Amino acid sequence: MESREENASISMSGDGFLDKDQSIVTRRIQRLCFHLQPAPESASCGDLEVLNCAGRAKIVVNTDRLSEYMRGKHRDIQQRVYDYFNSRPELQTPLEISKDEHRELCMRQLMGLVREAGIRPFRYILEDPGKYFAILEAVGGVDMSLGIKMGVQYSLWGGSVLNLGTKKHQDKFFEGIDNMEYPGCFAMTELHHGSNVQGLQTVATFDPLKDEFIIDTPNDGAIKWWIGNAAVHGKFATVFAKLILPTHDAKGISDMGVHAFIVPIRDMKTHETLPGVEIHDCGHKVGLNGVDNGALRFRSVRIPRDNLLNRFGDVSRDGKYTSSLPSISKRFAATLGELVGGRVGLAYSSVGVLKISVIIAVRYSLLRQQFGPPKQPEISILDYQSQQHKLIPMLASAYAYHFATLHLIDKYSEMKKTHDEQLIGDVHTLSAGLKAYVTSYTAKSLSICREACGGHGYAAVNRFGSLRNDHDIFQTFEGDNTVLLQQVAGYLLKQYQEKFRGGTLTVTWNYLRVSMNSYLSQPNPVTARWEGEDHLRDPKFQLDAFRYRTSRLLQSVAVRLRKHSKTLGSFGAWNRCLNHLLTLAESHIESVILEKFIDAVQSCPDPSSQAALKLICDSYALDRIWNDIGTYRNVDYVAPNKAKAIHKLSEYLSFQVKNVAKELVDAFDIPDYVTRAPIGMQATEEAYSQYTQFAGFEN
Ligand SMILES: Cc1cc2nc3c(=O)[nH]c(=O)nc-3n(C[C@H](O)[C@H](O)[C@H](O)COP(=O)(O)OP(=O)(O)OC[C@H]3O[C@@H](n4cnc5c(N)ncnc54)[C@H](O)[C@@H]3O)c2cc1C
Repeated sequence: MESREENASISMSGDGFLDKDQSIVTRRIQRLCFHLQPAPESASCGDLEVLNCAGRAKIVVNTDRLSEYMRGKHRDIQQRVYDYFNSRPELQTPLEISKDEHRELCMRQLMGLVREAGIRPFRYILEDPGKYFAILEAVGGVDMSLGIKMGVQYSLWGGSVLNLGTKKHQDKFFEGIDNMEYPGCFAMTELHHGSNVQGLQTVATFDPLKDEFIIDTPNDGAIKWWIGNAAVHGKFATVFAKLILPTHDAKGISDMGVHAFIVPIRDMKTHETLPGVEIHDCGHKVGLNGVDNGALRFRSVRIPRDNLLNRFGDVSRDGKYTSSLPSISKRFAATLGELVGGRVGLAYSSVGVLKISVIIAVRYSLLRQQFGPPKQPEISILDYQSQQHKLIPMLASAYAYHFATLHLIDKYSEMKKTHDEQLIGDVHTLSAGLKAYVTSYTAKSLSICREACGGHGYAAVNRFGSLRNDHDIFQTFEGDNTVLLQQVAGYLLKQYQEKFRGGTLTVTWNYLRVSMNSYLSQPNPVTARWEGEDHLRDPKFQLDAFRYRTSRLLQSVAVRLRKHSKTLGSFGAWNRCLNHLLTLAESHIESVILEKFIDAVQSCPDPSSQAALKLICDSYALDRIWNDIGTYRNVDYVAPNKAKAIHKLSEYLSFQVKNVAKELVDAFDIPDYVTRAPIGMQATEEAYSQYTQFAGFEN
């Protein structure tokens, strides 16, 4: 093992990168060393002691400098959120709390944030979306129910008014939404229709005599269901309904498609439910019980014509419909396109949850000692290769997703300013893909983290239970993940067709244009055998591998779809290829994530932080390639020995990341009073005493 340690110092030059001028001979020796020494997997009990090499890491991480780079522009506002809640213990959510108390507390938390701490998230949705998402992530760390309640108020209810309405709506509602005088809901989902929004059945019929719309729930399947803020606090709802206009033809009516309407649901003074509106409680949920989800039924509820959110379609006083968009499907796409902000927020907040759970699991794994070589002290459980295998890819992923979601926020902010059409398409797809990919990953990770902390991971005070329950639904709301990934695949296929029609590809998909031709030819039999560490750690190789896989998947699914659609029709063919399409979408999103991670490594101005990020990035990339090694082997993209070398190096990098895991989780810069798990304290030596105090023991 000693020689492996030496090798680590050979392989990393001072700043962590391979020295480009290294002689061929040195490289050859280095490669030989790597192959000759035993991998950590073969560690005997004696080796375990050597593996416990805290203080022997070859990379030195300056936590402050790394976290400064990670923080981004909006850390100050997050600190204000943390400080406010830290100074108000009565606003912190206790471990045991009833549904009703939790809902009231959550409302007080939001009111406190807005009115007492003076943090007004709503205005940032317009002025600086990055700041808004930073606040959202921070409040989600305080209590995820609070994050979602805030999201319902500002992204969903507020966002629908800002993005689907026009100036008259903004003038009338902005202030009340901003200062919480107008708590509201976003009522899209119905009992019978969730993902299939075009199937909604609620109707809004125009009455030209009274210049009003009449909102109706035509059957119980059309009851609005799961509506956040509806059961207790909401005064208004943005209701999605089919706009029906009277006509003079034989049919008598015309369906203009789904539109959004502002419907008052409770009296502003008495808070009584308004006539014609029936509200029930969706009840106790698996998580997020601080949010009051309710069900709404409407019976001939009249609202002024002005309450139609008319950015994409309007009705005149005499009942004429006008729109700048030519068809129902175009209007529908434009309406949904304006709502992507919610997905951006969920993807970003999900990374926040992943960071918290990785922080707790890594710190505890460093603290916890079990077994060890005979007659020697016990060792940290993070020194077990199996524990590294569980946690290190997660730590690396948290870094990778951090940069990817920051990129998404930048693109989203740019889109809001420029309204550039290509960018709208890109952001729509990227937000759908990252939301689906990241939330699914975090949901799985939460269970692994809990298990990695053994029995103490099961104590509610150590957070995994509530994080897991609260986060779980991130996979479903704001678009079910399986449905969202199909949108990504659909967009890629559209781009693919454009390519073969000679059209241009948009920026995010540029790599397809650049690389499609070369990727679709046979893999290069020479590079398929390159197995040196310098090659495997070259970002060009790593990105090439990810993109090669995406391009192959795209090309092969396009061929299959064409073939099956002849016999099964387009819907049947899509369904026949569905799993293939989902894999394609995930593969594409992984390519984007890696690309953004590599960019972040290359842009890092501090050499020691850059070296640390490079190590994590390599670990991330090789772990993912190894996970899918069967695919690469099947097409001879990697030869058998190269596959082995990838595995060996991936395990070794994981081991190196482990050596600086404490610094890497500290660099997330989330204070103990936010992570709140006694077993996950930054000063790990205090963890057990915090935990015993919690149970009632005096220290
Ligand atoms: C806690 C909570 C809060 C919510 N808040 C709100 C809110 O404030 N406002 C609001 O309007 N809605 C809200 N919702 C509703 C939420 O947006 C929907 O649940 C979501 O859109 C999914 O719809 P669904 O539940 O009908 O699932 P379905 O669409 O019925 O999906 C069920 C399963 O079928 C699969 N499936 C569906 N379609 C396809 C397909 N085409 N291809 C492959 N698989 C498919 C899905 O992957 C999923 O596994 C909330 C839901 C919850 C649970």
